[in-house]
Amino acid sequence: MSTTYTPPVRDITFVIDHITDLGSLANLDGFEHADPETVHGALEEAGRFMAEVIAPTNRIGDTVGAIHDGDAAVATPEAFKDAYAKFVASGWGAIAYPAAAGGAGLPWLVGLAVQEMLTSANMAFSLGPMLTQSAVEALLFHGSDEQRATYLDKLVSGEWTGTMVLTEPEAGSDVGALRSKALPNDDGTYAITGTKIFITWGEHDLADNIIHMVLARTPDAPPGTKGISMFIVPKFLVNPDGSLGDRNAFKAASLEHKLGIHGSPTVVMNFEGATGFLVGEENQGMRYMFTMMNSARLSVGLEGLAISQRAYQQARDYAQERVQGRAIGAAKTEHSLIIEHPDVRRMLMTMKAYNEAMRCLLYATAEAFDIANNAEGEAARAAAQEYMDLLTPIAKAWCTDLGVEMTSLALQVHGGMGYVEETGVAQHYRDARIAPIYEGTNGIQAIDLIARKLPMRDGGAIRDLIGRMAALDAVLDEAGDGLASIRRNLGAAVSDLTAAVVWMAEHGPARPNDALAGATPFLRLMGTTVGGWYLARAALAARELLARGEGDRAFLEAKITTARFYAEQLLPQTAGLLPMVTAGADRLFEVPINQL
Ligand SMILES: Cc1cc2nc3c(=O)[nH]c(=O)nc-3n(C[C@H](O)[C@H](O)[C@H](O)COP(=O)(O)OP(=O)(O)OC[C@H]3O[C@@H](n4cnc5c(N)ncnc54)[C@H](O)[C@@H]3O)c2cc1C
Repeated sequence: MSTTYTPPVRDITFVIDHITDLGSLANLDGFEHADPETVHGALEEAGRFMAEVIAPTNRIGDTVGAIHDGDAAVATPEAFKDAYAKFVASGWGAIAYPAAAGGAGLPWLVGLAVQEMLTSANMAFSLGPMLTQSAVEALLFHGSDEQRATYLDKLVSGEWTGTMVLTEPEAGSDVGALRSKALPNDDGTYAITGTKIFITWGEHDLADNIIHMVLARTPDAPPGTKGISMFIVPKFLVNPDGSLGDRNAFKAASLEHKLGIHGSPTVVMNFEGATGFLVGEENQGMRYMFTMMNSARLSVGLEGLAISQRAYQQARDYAQERVQGRAIGAAKTEHSLIIEHPDVRRMLMTMKAYNEAMRCLLYATAEAFDIANNAEGEAARAAAQEYMDLLTPIAKAWCTDLGVEMTSLALQVHGGMGYVEETGVAQHYRDARIAPIYEGTNGIQAIDLIARKLPMRDGGAIRDLIGRMAALDAVLDEAGDGLASIRRNLGAAVSDLTAAVVWMAEHGPARPNDALAGATPFLRLMGTTVGGWYLARAALAARELLARGEGDRAFLEAKITTARFYAEQLLPQTAGLLPMVTAGADRLFEVPINQL
């Protein structure tokens, strides 16, 4: 039974080369090394590393898990220590950080591709580097020169890890309700006191130091999100010469016992007057969080794809081993592999098609991040930032919902063997379940999409995207009969999306509860449509390569068929989603609470 991971480097480079524009990124300041040859070579190499070094630790992480010693220490599985040391030495965690900060200066697009393979290899393990990435961004964008000099190099290399410390028992989705206190000390530092829960990689034994980015309130801070400040709270204080000093005054009180990602320590942390260093200015913590949120949400969205991809591989392989029943057309004396049954093919094609659509959407969002941060002209940066802002809630929520659904399908392909732990596919399903919850629940993402993103530029951002999608119609028309079903069904989906956007604009301001009631189906409708648009572009690119006689014929033909499958069998869902978007909230509140 296969539990190995085969990095889908060919699929990844197809998206990087034909959906995003790596060539143009390589022309931007700071990305000089991002030529296709270097990037392709790096991805091959990274894939090999993830498959050989990280993937074998996935099952161990699940079965052994992280262990709290009853006092304040957390031990990770033995296999993680060796893998983490090799990960740091390999430099893969640093490839998308700026060269000036000790990184390899490649675009985030390439960093995301490496992150996909790391996350597929072991999602629980990948969370350490992912949270470190948020801490790095906090320092890069908002830290002082001194703070950058003290912490950045070691976080970028992975020698130290970072965390994001927001959540408290009474402050989850509503971050503004947090109560942790930050009292100014005479020396310019702050004394941090409070209890934080659910902190990913909040304590562990893989790195010499852990740099916590903690949100807390100073005395007299205004209530809500306007009164939140951000502090660097290192596990060990750092001496002026860079050596480690005293242990800071907080501890990991306990670990959560979770449905999945057992290898990732999720920590309850008690801060007892810990020394904290203010990042930027007081009361600006939420603003700083927002600058990191897009990339963190993109990384969590990527978890949906990464887990779905690994589960898909396992299901595909299982379907070619398991013999059961007789497929139509098979000889009377024969039993068939389950992959010969249409319903099993349906499940495999659904996984494959959604995976490919998710990859396009996520990588295009990463490309927008790169342009927004590195393009020369202000207009280009602003346009890319807007595109990223618009797509981020979809990248996060659509992909993580699909992550749960696709891992469930992978389990289904295994039949009863999927439900027992022995095959390992159940782990993917359990691991995937957290992603719709953390980094802003998917319900909150849907609200963000309809309440903040659709109104951007008076609706200009969504109108432009719809315009771009509609413009593909003429190109698909020229492509002829082979892509006719894509043209027809994409056109219908874009019309459904347009109607949903118009309804939101007309009803949202006057009847906000109606709009909020339709937010989640709206996000689904938009994700499904944008995914279909990207796959249509993938089909066109594959067709062009075939016409030029370039590339692997079977691979490219499969890309076209996958896009047709998506258009014919997944995209029509938008027609059913539209009335769900516009149904309003009446029925939701008619049933009294005591009858729910
Ligand atoms: C394994 C794990 C790791 C985590 N890692 C971290 C970490 O590293 N750092 C950190 O700070 N936090 C972390 N978290 C916390 C996580 O971000 C929160 O759990 C999440 O934000 C949801 O908050 P909550 O659990 O309080 O749920 P609640 O906010 O209580 O939400 C419960 C339900 O109500 C809905 N809801 C809430 N408010 C609204 C609203 N206004 N409108 C509509 N629906 C609403 C939600 O969508 C959800 O369905 C982690 C959590 C877990 C489980």
